[in-house]
Amino acid sequence: MSESSARQASVKAIDSPAPRPLKRLQALAPYKQGKSQLPGRDRVIKLSSNEGCFGPSPKAMEAYRALAPELHRYPDGTQTQLREAIAGVHGIDADRIVCGNGSEELIGLLIRCFLGEGDELLLSENNFMMCSIYGKSQAAKIVLAPERDFQVDVDALLKCITPRTRVLSVANPNNPTGTYLPSAEIERLVAEVPPHVLIILDGAYVEYVTREDYDDGLRWAEKLPNVVVTRSFSKMYGLAGLRIGWAYGPADVIEVVNRLRTPFNANAAALAAAAAAVTDYEHVEHTRRHVAAWQERIASALGDRGVTVVPSVTNFYLVDFEPRADKTAKEAAAVMEANGIIPRPGSADRFLRITVGTDEENEALLEVLGGYLDA
Ligand SMILES: *Cc1c(COP(=O)(O)O)cnc(C)c1O
Repeated sequence: MSESSARQASVKAIDSPAPRPLKRLQALAPYKQGKSQLPGRDRVIKLSSNEGCFGPSPKAMEAYRALAPELHRYPDGTQTQLREAIAGVHGIDADRIVCGNGSEELIGLLIRCFLGEGDELLLSENNFMMCSIYGKSQAAKIVLAPERDFQVDVDALLKCITPRTRVLSVANPNNPTGTYLPSAEIERLVAEVPPHVLIILDGAYVEYVTREDYDDGLRWAEKLPNVVVTRSFSKMYGLAGLRIGWAYGPADVIEVVNRLRTPFNANAAALAAAAAAVTDYEHVEHTRRHVAAWQERIASALGDRGVTVVPSVTNFYLVDFEPRADKTAKEAAAVMEANGIIPRPGSADRFLRITVGTDEENEALLEVLGGYLDA
């Protein structure tokens, strides 16, 4: 017997099973992304992932193209250009900004930095699904606070806080409801949550909100030692494919994220395109106006047909089919898909979440979904 085959035999002799992942990872349900294709169709109307309907800003595309000859270089690990561009737009401190591979990476890093085994991660009933995946991977307990009328309920959140609560993450506006907490409620939340709890205010849809009583949370992240705001370039800025987002918070919180993140977590193309996008106010304003006008028109057209459209301040809306006893979300989705339109199914076969699209896409949506509700 050769030496190597002898070693093989002895390894086999030990009753050793295959490598096993950590127990807490075995039951993780994988994140399900919105469908993007339908069998037998070259072109679809994808209204399942809340991507910006007008695509990236022309300025972002130009910056992206200009970077092509430099792609052999590592990105700037200090992310300086983008951090300074963001700081300039929002009047905040560039040193307290960190960029990431989508805001979901930053939410994940924050959770990994502050949440350990047996700790509690507090979320509202409707929440960004990656939060509980990150929480479970830390062997933490996920605590869900109930909502009222599709609204995050500050009192319900406060009631769930225990000495083991380490992180509280709330999206404002929230997903998939599209509703928001007014500034007085945010103020109450940050005032009443005890200081040992890190509050993540997920602002993925901030740029769509036009309400006067809305608060993006940056002033609290500026002032308080336990508030961090995360922001995304995936929704309003139309850069979901590049994966880029940022977080702003207390210096020591940002510093620990900087220690844990990989040195090049934000890629060069994303950094360059986002720096161009963030100052393209015209693109943002045009998109915002388009979405607000369509939200009104769609809510009224579908509302007239007896379903509930949850009032949304974002670029998507949640349709509740319950008031129409003769219709279901599942059947509606099937009819839409048969016509090349992809919504995002919600829980309990009662809801569909639909992204606001272009004029043409929204007209098609109203014709198909309206037709189903009229039939
Ligand atoms: C889309 C979304 C995100 C993630 O955005 P990325 O920047 O693409 O990672 C985070 N939170 C909410 C509520 C979202 O809807």
